[in-house]
Amino acid sequence: MVDDVSTPLARELAEENRRREKLKGRRLPKPRETRIVTVSNQKGGVGKTTTTVNLSAAMARAGMQVLVVDIDPQGNASTALAIPHNSEVDSVYDVLIDEMPLAEVVQSCPDIDGLTVAPATIDLAGAEIELVSLVAREQRLSRALAEYFEYRQNQGLPRIDFVFIDCPPSLGLLTVNAFVAASEVLIPIQTEYYALEGLSQLLNNIGMIQKHLNSALEVSTIILTMYDGRTNLAMQVAEEVREHFPEEVLKTVIPRNVRISEAPSFQQSVLTYDPQSAGALSYREAAAEIADRGHASGR
Ligand code: ADP
Ligand code: MG
Repeated sequence: MVDDVSTPLARELAEENRRREKLKGRRLPKPRETRIVTVSNQKGGVGKTTTTVNLSAAMARAGMQVLVVDIDPQGNASTALAIPHNSEVDSVYDVLIDEMPLAEVVQSCPDIDGLTVAPATIDLAGAEIELVSLVAREQRLSRALAEYFEYRQNQGLPRIDFVFIDCPPSLGLLTVNAFVAASEVLIPIQTEYYALEGLSQLLNNIGMIQKHLNSALEVSTIILTMYDGRTNLAMQVAEEVREHFPEEVLKTVIPRNVRISEAPSFQQSVLTYDPQSAGALSYREAAAEIADRGHASGR
């Protein structure tokens, strides 16, 4: 037992145990309606994919029905969830360009019950340009999702509680499709110097979408990622982001954790790769916070 709190390490372990105990066996409250969350930041490497994968895994393991839509041509979310996505596989590309039903491209994550994935293939890199000349080019994902929800209902399949859309690091038509399909934006921010740089551009773009294409869209959640609690810098940056966005920033921060970065190379989420890690714990806490906050605000 870690009752000896005389050293910093022992204290940290005791604290982690306390947090784990709090989550033990916890089922999260389901939202009233399907929450469609687009995970977006035009900066690369801030933790969009990692957050999509691990939040989705945490939600599904806490009893939610979750759909991940991978719209990044890199397909990293598909990889991490062990979903085949070579160029032969039917994917979000076929949905957006050829109006193939989502029901025909989704695959179940082999390791996690209740988690379904619409994979991305490298073809999506061309979709950005191919979309330009298509009718309703901004609404294609939104329509595909509506159709898919109806299909599930007709088939007697359980309702999807959460959709997480993993966006590429750009503000092109793929990301616009995600913004139009979603009710919420989740912005991961890497806790480092220049964290807020580029954010005003993202928020301006979201403003344009709200004005012209989707008035219901709202930035509901900001999550601080790759937090290194040993540095003053991380603490200062976290404080600054919280000052700007007191409502949106989650209390939970995601620490920089080597298990999080190792998991994808084993085609795993950190929750299945190392459930006891600090990374798994914090993504479970973040999932609980998102579900609870939504519940409290009537979502
Ligand atoms: P994005 O999708 O925004 O480009 P990723 O989720 O791919 O960003 O993360 C970028 C890199 O940082 C990846 O190599 C990932 O494994 C690593 N990473 C993300 N979050 C963490 C974390 N909390 N701790 C350690 N490494 C992380
Ligand atoms: Mg990514």
